[in-house]
Amino acid sequence: MTDIKIYNGNQIGGCITVIASLEGKVIIDFGANLPGAEGADLVFDWEAEHVDAVLFTHYHGDHIGRFKEIPHSVSIYMGRVTRQVMTTIAKYTKDTEAFQILQDDTRVHEIRAAESFAVKDIRITPYMVDHSAYDACMYLLETPDKTILHTGDFRGHGHRGRKLVTMIDTYICRRGKRKVDVLLTEGTMLSRLTEKVYSEADMMRDCIRLFEKHRYVFLICSSTNADTLATFYQAARRNGIKMFANPYVCEQIDHFREAAAGHWERRNRDQKTAGNYLGTYNFKYVYPYAPEKVIPAYGSSKKDVTQEEIMRSEGFCIVIKADEPYKKWMERFRDLDPIVVYSMWEGYLNPEHKAYNAKYKAFLDSCDHVRYMHTSGHATAELIAEVINTVNPTESIYPIHTENAKELEHLNIREELRRKIRYE
Ligand SMILES: [Zn+2]
Ligand SMILES: [Zn+2]
Repeated sequence: MTDIKIYNGNQIGGCITVIASLEGKVIIDFGANLPGAEGADLVFDWEAEHVDAVLFTHYHGDHIGRFKEIPHSVSIYMGRVTRQVMTTIAKYTKDTEAFQILQDDTRVHEIRAAESFAVKDIRITPYMVDHSAYDACMYLLETPDKTILHTGDFRGHGHRGRKLVTMIDTYICRRGKRKVDVLLTEGTMLSRLTEKVYSEADMMRDCIRLFEKHRYVFLICSSTNADTLATFYQAARRNGIKMFANPYVCEQIDHFREAAAGHWERRNRDQKTAGNYLGTYNFKYVYPYAPEKVIPAYGSSKKDVTQEEIMRSEGFCIVIKADEPYKKWMERFRDLDPIVVYSMWEGYLNPEHKAYNAKYKAFLDSCDHVRYMHTSGHATAELIAEVINTVNPTESIYPIHTENAKELEHLNIREELRRKIRYE
């Protein structure tokens, strides 16, 4: 008999799902609580639990943050980009322990879209989804007696979200031919129902206009949010503006560009959802910030120019962090009256919120012209309802990764499905 245990499902972050069949036991995500969360991280008894494998849905800290605690005997599964992003973080934070684990091919297994693998008697298939992390996935688990779908974090309003419901219907449910018994769905936005949904496409449109007016832009966004970086990059390119960032951000961007190029080559195999990845994430004109660097024989005049001269004549989109050292970067271009765009969750700037980040707030307060543009990484309540109706689980629906699980009962889902809602 298959057993499902959910820990911390009633909070955003640190949600851990344990699925045990007759022979095998896997965990989906082993992340840390969000900053400011009440209570300590879950204590997990690895010795008593005899886990075979941990499956990671994506590289956000609230899903993967505690991977170093996993004992050596347990296999780890993650996407290639997740592995690369985490390796780059380990490299730049000089975390040799994390680096060594990530390099270990005997422990770390790279998953691929729609390719099944087995952990003892559990057959597992990852499906790539749209999220503010590049290779986020849903996991379908088939044990001898149950079929379980764990959504991980997902949304429908990013660059790759449009076909989410079709993907679920076609590839996961096989147009109703495959019955999913249990659905575990993220519900982040159930507690943020008043947040207006602003899509990456909306933001792209607004960004193009922004760069038409303001050619000097400092951008504060997550270095691993491939979609938002792509939005600003593409909008800047439309206006002939290049993107600059520190070497760490450039390395993360390289992972997205490489992966997108790979998707392009394999697009017929990868769930057909890949679309024009290469176009969106091509990131061809992203350079390490080095204003004094001389670029030989630049442009049509074939003159040697510094990077700063290019920035001043063509404009720039410079990715920064809300952190002291970047003040110097901004100071250098003060005469151009640049603007700062904050493209992260606004909750970090709200002193009332437990995730409040005083450093970000102080940084932004010290800037003259700040714009706020941000798209959520999570599914709207309407999309969650659509996913539930499409998956149409035979037994139960568990809300996870949410502070407002009860709201699930008020979604526009079929009555018989409403009766299947369970809580951890
Ligand atoms: Zn999350
Ligand atoms: Zn996430």
